[in-house]
Amino acid sequence: MTASPEDPAASATRPMIVLKEVQKHFGDLHVLKDINLEVPAGQVVVVLGPSGSGKSTLCRAINRLEPIDSGEIEIEGRPLPAEGKDLARLRADVGMVFQQFNLFSHKTILDNVTLAPIKVRRQSKSDARTKGLALLERVGIESQKDKYPAQLSGGQQQRVAIARSLAMDPKIMLFDEPTSALDPEMVNEVLDVMVSLAKEGMTMLVVTHEMGFARKAADRILFMADGAIVEDTDPESFFTAPKTDRAKDFLGKIL
Ligand code: ADP
Ligand code: MG
Repeated sequence: MTASPEDPAASATRPMIVLKEVQKHFGDLHVLKDINLEVPAGQVVVVLGPSGSGKSTLCRAINRLEPIDSGEIEIEGRPLPAEGKDLARLRADVGMVFQQFNLFSHKTILDNVTLAPIKVRRQSKSDARTKGLALLERVGIESQKDKYPAQLSGGQQQRVAIARSLAMDPKIMLFDEPTSALDPEMVNEVLDVMVSLAKEGMTMLVVTHEMGFARKAADRILFMADGAIVEDTDPESFFTAPKTDRAKDFLGKIL
């Protein structure tokens, strides 16, 4: 049988994210240097690297929050849309969770989670509510549903932010240092949610400094330095036998 785009067997093996020869400058600063990357469906990729190496720019480029200078980015075999409705759909398909939770402060927790599904996915209010409650339960904060973001701890707010992304049924989740703004005792409650997402087969790209998470949940480590991917390997190899001096130096400072 010939594989067609509609063939489920073919789509199971099709890469979710593809970057080809991606270049990005900020003025004279070359922040993404010839990035080539293929992420298959269900893979959990942890992106490591020193501050300023281009990790956030990479995430933002994949979600088209940051336009690239040249090269190609494809999500599920389709080029990134530049604007309009297609871009809104991309943003719904590719969820992103940031260091800052960015919840709507004047909306309740439940409304934070149901707003986009109602407006963008055109779900009925009752469907969105049912689903929103289930997602809040999944991240362990259903009992907070009628509160406002400021009444919750940072860890709880970040779990709401994850539930809010999941409410759009994303195919890919990008996390950019999701626990960096949290007090240490709240880091694990957020990482636990991410570990369970990873186990459920979500395709994930996670920028983090949490090495325990990287070892436990990552299928693959990308190590970035000066805008380039300098190591692309499995966690065991990366942590026990890093190949480059840049990676050895980085691990020496954080482990
Ligand atoms: P990381 O997330 O690895 O710390 P970033 O992707 O945020 O790195 O940044 C890569 C480089 O690009 C840094 O030198 C940073 O200062 C610079 N940079 C990031 N965003 C901008 C911007 N909007 N304008 C100019 N320079 C930027
Ligand atoms: Mg960053």
